[in-house]
Amino acid sequence: MTIVNIGASDIHRITSGQVITDLVSVVKELVENSIDAGSNKIDITYSNYGLDLIEVTDDGRGIDPADFELVCLKHHTSKLSDFKQLSEIGVSTLGFRGEAMSSLCSIASSVIVTTCTPKQYPRATQLEYNHMGVLKNKKVVVGGLKGTNVKITKMFDNLPVRKKNLIKNLKKEFHKSVNFLMNYLIIYPNIRFTIFNTNSQGRKHLLMGTKGGPKTTILDNLISVYGTNGAYGLVPLDIEMNLKFSGYISNSSFGLGRSSSDRQFLFVNQRPITMKKYLKTINEVYRSFNHIQNPVIVLNIELDYKYLDVNVTPDKRIVMIHNEELINEVLRNELINFYQKQITVIPKNRN
Ligand code: ADP
Ligand code: MG
Repeated sequence: MTIVNIGASDIHRITSGQVITDLVSVVKELVENSIDAGSNKIDITYSNYGLDLIEVTDDGRGIDPADFELVCLKHHTSKLSDFKQLSEIGVSTLGFRGEAMSSLCSIASSVIVTTCTPKQYPRATQLEYNHMGVLKNKKVVVGGLKGTNVKITKMFDNLPVRKKNLIKNLKKEFHKSVNFLMNYLIIYPNIRFTIFNTNSQGRKHLLMGTKGGPKTTILDNLISVYGTNGAYGLVPLDIEMNLKFSGYISNSSFGLGRSSSDRQFLFVNQRPITMKKYLKTINEVYRSFNHIQNPVIVLNIELDYKYLDVNVTPDKRIVMIHNEELINEVLRNELINFYQKQITVIPKNRN
C-alpha cells in the first residue's frame, strides 16, 4: 500500500461535501448569512428547482471592501474572533465556522457575490471566486442593490454521483429545501421573505412570502405559509422559568394527521434544530389528550448560551444542551399542565 498526500483542492472538495450535502444546505447557509447580516428583506430564487441556479438577495449590511478577498476562504469569518468566544460566551450569530462560502465555491460551477455597504451605495461590487475560494475578478456595478446578492450556479457539477442523485430526485429535494426554509419564514417575523422558482421557460413564480416588519407575528407567518385554516386551533405557548419556551401549538382537539411531521418546528434561540427526543415528548403528551393526531408545533427554547454547544456538526443543526434530559422532563410536565388548563382557541376567522 502506498500512502500519498491528497492535493489541497481535493481535500477542500472532500471536507466541503460535509457542509454542503444537498439543496437544503445551500439555501440554509445563504439565508443564515443574510439573517446574520441584519437583513429586513430576503429573497430566495431557484432556477429550474435549484438545479441551474440558487440566488439569495438581502438588504443587509453588505460586505466591507477590506473583506472581499477573504469571504470565500476556508475558516474566514467576521463573526467570531477567538475560540474563547465560542466555548465560554457562545455565539449569537447563526454562522461562525467560516466554512459555507468556501464549501459552496468548491461544489458549484460558479459563485458570484454582488454586495454594497451603505457607505459604498450606489456603487456595488460584483465578485467572482474560483473553486478554492480565491477572488478571481471584481467589477463595480452601479445599481439599486443595498445589501448582498449571492448566485450559486450548477451545484455539484464536479461531483457526478451527487449531481445524478440531485437530478433524479430534483422535485423532492426542491420541496425539502423549501420546507426547510419555512423554519426561517416562521421564526423571524421581522424579516420579509419571498421565495421564487424560475422554470425552464424563464417564467418566475412566487412560491411563498411573508410580510415582515415590526408588527408581524409568528402566527401571521404561519397564516402566510399555511393559510388561515393551517393556523386553526393553534394556541400560544409561553412558559417562562429559568429557561423560556414560546411559540404555538395545536389545541387538544385540532391537530395534524398522525404521520405528518412537516409542521413541527423546533428552535433553540431561533436556530432551527433537530431534537427528536423533544419532538417525541411533545407528541406523546399531545396524544395523551388527543389519541388520533399529532400537534402543529412552533417551539423556540430560549437558553443562555453558556448551556449550549452548537458546534457539534458542520451544519450546526444538532445542538448539545447541558441538562438536556432535565429540560425534556420540564417540557413534558409543563405541556401536561398546559393542556390540562388550556381552553382558549384562536377563532377560525382571525385576520
Ligand atoms: P460564517 O457565516 O460562518 O462566518 P460563511 O462562509 O458563511 O461563514 O461566510 C463568510 C463571511 O462572509 C461571513 O462571516 C460574512 O462576513 C460574509 N458574508 C457572507 N454572506 C454575507 C451576506 N449575505 N451579507 C454580509 N456578509 C456576508
Ligand atoms: Mg455562514
